[in-house]
Amino acid sequence: MFQEKSFVDIDNKEIPIKIYMMLILTAYLFSIAVRYIWVDWASAFPQYIYNGELMINTNDGYLWAEGARDILAGFHQPNDLSAINEPISKLTAFIVNITGIKFESVILWMSGIFGSLIVVPTMLIARVLKLDYVGIVAGLLVGIVWSYYNRTMIGYYDTDMLTIVLPLFTLLGLILSFQTKKDIYILFTAFSMLLYIWWYPSAKALNLGWVIIALLYTLVFERKDTQSYKIVLFLMVAQTPISIELRSVLIAILYIAFHYQQEITFKYIKHIFIFFTIAFIYFGGLESIINPIKGYIFHQSVIENSSSINLHFYAISKTVKEASSIPFELLAKRISGSEITFILSIIGYLMFIFRYRLMLLALPMAGLGLLAYVAGLRFTVYAVPVMALGIGYLIVWFAQRVSEYFKNGEQVVFYVVIIITTSFALIPNIIHIVNYKVSTVFNTQEVKVLDKLKNIAKREDYVLTWWDYGYPIRYYADVKTLIDGGKHTGDVNYPVSYALLKPQEQSALMARLATEYTEKSFDKERKDEPIIADMMRDYNITDPALFIQMVNENAITPPPKSRDIYYYLPLRMFNIMPTVALFSSIDLSSGNEKDAPFLYALRPKGKQGSKLIFTNGLIFDIKTGELKTPQGIQKLGIFALSSITSPNKPPKSEIIQYDPNSNIVMLFMRDYNRVYLMDRELFDSSYVQMFALGRYDKSLFEPVVIDPLVHIYRLKR
Ligand code: MN
Repeated sequence: MFQEKSFVDIDNKEIPIKIYMMLILTAYLFSIAVRYIWVDWASAFPQYIYNGELMINTNDGYLWAEGARDILAGFHQPNDLSAINEPISKLTAFIVNITGIKFESVILWMSGIFGSLIVVPTMLIARVLKLDYVGIVAGLLVGIVWSYYNRTMIGYYDTDMLTIVLPLFTLLGLILSFQTKKDIYILFTAFSMLLYIWWYPSAKALNLGWVIIALLYTLVFERKDTQSYKIVLFLMVAQTPISIELRSVLIAILYIAFHYQQEITFKYIKHIFIFFTIAFIYFGGLESIINPIKGYIFHQSVIENSSSINLHFYAISKTVKEASSIPFELLAKRISGSEITFILSIIGYLMFIFRYRLMLLALPMAGLGLLAYVAGLRFTVYAVPVMALGIGYLIVWFAQRVSEYFKNGEQVVFYVVIIITTSFALIPNIIHIVNYKVSTVFNTQEVKVLDKLKNIAKREDYVLTWWDYGYPIRYYADVKTLIDGGKHTGDVNYPVSYALLKPQEQSALMARLATEYTEKSFDKERKDEPIIADMMRDYNITDPALFIQMVNENAITPPPKSRDIYYYLPLRMFNIMPTVALFSSIDLSSGNEKDAPFLYALRPKGKQGSKLIFTNGLIFDIKTGELKTPQGIQKLGIFALSSITSPNKPPKSEIIQYDPNSNIVMLFMRDYNRVYLMDRELFDSSYVQMFALGRYDKSLFEPVVIDPLVHIYRLKR
């Protein structure tokens, strides 16, 4: 089955190692050069640049950036959730420290510089199998493939920059270990797993995959080889969920024992093996497989809380796109760039396995990537390197077959076929990259607002806004936030949603409650208990509906003020208001969901006398309050016109009342050329009243920074 055939002509054509190293460097630089396409495009937009550098384009990046900033500063505030202990923040701070490169530049470029390292293990894997040409093709492709590019483009400052690189080194180590059985490679493999788990806690699942594949490979192909059991043993220790330090020590001890006391250790290897297998399972080594399955089977839409007070909150998973299955076409494009390349990659990978069974060891990565088909697109990246090697194998095999037909110029034909076919694999990915025009998370104008806030607010103060803006606000203004990209479950979103959606009096009360109880929640014993349960306990109320009713009626004395609260009300929140509202449109006792408020954007086309005309054929008469729709005439309740008189002052507004029984309001924000239809509930919300209309309650709020894109108000009490 694994006999040597004419193909060996090609793989024996080994390239001198120095030249191969140069080729790795070339592929690496190619991967970076392609990433420059986005930098070049984005640099033309002043709104993407702050402090002389392009801003990052991933929201989570600001969490790591905040952590790195605080590490460099040497201080941060208790309970500010700063990511000072995260490896990526530490690495960033370290790089800034030793190179002296500007902070903004480091966080911009890190993803591309580290992410492109993927070419190194990919090309080394091909090299150790003596398939240099396969390595070259795969190396050129792997760094720029669709989904891998998306997650490691310049500015995508996130842990993704190493989450594929590190396990690929594990795969390289695993192949080398089974190929040579040398202790040093086994040690390398085990430590690469530890490095991965240190970098990325979710590494557990893939690391477990390595343990299982090594075990199966041993049982099927190398049953009688004690050395192979040793590989499994080392991987198992690396994956046992005890502290990373302890694992490192155990691995080092095992390595020394095996290396220097070969005979004695081998005599007891069965016992050692059984001992560690039991320890592995006992400490929960299999949980990373069992838990997702449980979650997958029992996924719930409303989260019930396990505290003494029975509360129901809205489940965030309902609004998150990523966690759903994806169509085949998208799966194929994300893994290989096009459907045809994807199918050929799979064929190539199967041929590769058939010829080199060591490639079976890559199955956990390939499998995790294909899992995206049911589990969502964030998994596709894992299959990228395996499929790149697969297509590389097929291309080189094909080039060899074709060149065999030519007696003279066999070499030339071989190279030409490789160049042409490789280009076909590269081009769809490069087209994707050219078209993938991602904007920065915030634009310069918004960041300038936050920079002003930084000089006004104290570091212990809280900003109330939707979780989407949490991390960047913390990074640019160094304040605290109630919710953010990592803290946005139904229970913490509820009070914020409430504060944004309710009228100002109720909003102010809930904001004060949420802030004081959030801060309190860090000290208490049961941190997982919703803060609303804490509030209810302190106010001696057991019925959640009654509690909310009392807040609605302002019948609760707010807790004493310990710090300031700033409302951050951006224009970009307008269109997500119905989603924001979902989180407080739920009955806390029963879990019944009320309808979210209604919001509909209209596109104005022109004005005729007192009539506003819209692109979809609707006509509104300001005089009569009648809206002409294809279904008939609709009488509106209110027409509101807001206009900006000075960019640094809240807008002025005019309100016209029509039918008091009509629930529909039309809002015309003149300077934004935006028109919305909405219900009265949304119209009365603090967000719409304060941001869109500038109608803030002067006894409760004061404007602090006003910009057409963002309004920041300070809560006075
Ligand atoms: Mn801070």
